[in-house]
Amino acid sequence: MNIQGLQKLTLLDFPDRLACTIFTGFCNFRCPYCHNSSLLVAEGDPLNWAEVKSFLQSRVGKLAGVCLTGGGAHFTGLFG
Ligand code: SF4
Repeated sequence: MNIQGLQKLTLLDFPDRLACTIFTGFCNFRCPYCHNSSLLVAEGDPLNWAEVKSFLQSRVGKLAGVCLTGGGAHFTGLFG
């Protein structure tokens, strides 16, 4: 799983909810309006999934959601 970033708290990405945001790497599109273009080639070392998962488990009952954003979240393997 190629996770390139973790914003541990967002007050914007999930309206009216406390959430965190996971930034996945790589995308095969090149949309000119992309806000995360630095992630499209996913050159950085990915975060350790076990550590991200541990963080998420520590926030059960505190955060209302997780925003999954690109790069291409569909390349992560999270969706089968
Ligand atoms: S991450 Fe989203 S906005 Fe950016 S290039 Fe890929 S599909 Fe387009």
